[in-house]
Amino acid sequence: MKIHLRQIPADGLHLEGEENCPLSELETGDLHCAGKLRYNLDVGISEGALWANGSLVQPVELRCVACLEDFPHDINVAAFALHMELHGPETIDLTPAMREDLLLNLPAHPHCDRDGSRVCRGATPAKVTEAERQEEEAKREHDWEALDKLRLKR
Ligand SMILES: [Zn+2]
Repeated sequence: MKIHLRQIPADGLHLEGEENCPLSELETGDLHCAGKLRYNLDVGISEGALWANGSLVQPVELRCVACLEDFPHDINVAAFALHMELHGPETIDLTPAMREDLLLNLPAHPHCDRDGSRVCRGATPAKVTEAERQEEEAKREHDWEALDKLRLKR
């Protein structure tokens, strides 16, 4: 998703729409794009930097680690945020940052019954699933920490 800086008025710009799945180059047996990326963003320029925040939803198909069946999943990035120093180029591509945040929000060990809408035929005992879920959550928090540190350095 490319933004031309001259398209952004002084009081910012609201962008809402769909575009091609940014993960299509990364598709594997475990991950398939299942529709377009939906974005809802506010974008603006202040003090020589571009900022953007909003939300992203990317429908995908993931392979369940327990039964090895593909199942639909929406990757939700509820708080997409970006702050980028501007050095010259008049067109800024938000796609790499979007891709990064989508990947960070992918479940590390996807289970097809994670949202309770189906029963996994390879289901592991609930205790194990719960332990894995907590581990996954801890890992995600860790990833966010790493990303926050990265952002502070920028
Ligand atoms: Zn399953």
